[in-house]
Amino acid sequence: MKAIEKPKWWPDNPYPKSVFPMERDKYSEVVPDEKTRTALSGMLGREFWEIASDTIWEAVEAELSQVRELLKVAKCPNSCIDGSIPHRIVRGWEQEQCQWCYERKQALDLMGGKK
Ligand SMILES: [Zn+2]
Repeated sequence: MKAIEKPKWWPDNPYPKSVFPMERDKYSEVVPDEKTRTALSGMLGREFWEIASDTIWEAVEAELSQVRELLKVAKCPNSCIDGSIPHRIVRGWEQEQCQWCYERKQALDLMGGKK
């Protein structure tokens, strides 16, 4: 699977090197005790994960709701009737599921939220 580039709205790292210039190898000097370093890393990692997770989720949520609204009003190119395409057969009509509408529903379901 080809990697997808991060979109323009992806949040920037809130801890840029320009503000926090310390290099990683300096960490062992500042916190020489290995057990303390591990405990400190875990605690800070947990705190930073919460901040990053909330920040990213807010950005994703805003974009997803826009995509969802666009998808909800998108017009089916197959001119189907409520997701069905009628076909004339020898004796009357047959219904075929509209692929476009089916896939739109799958996408909306994947995005979650209200219908
Ligand atoms: Zn359709």
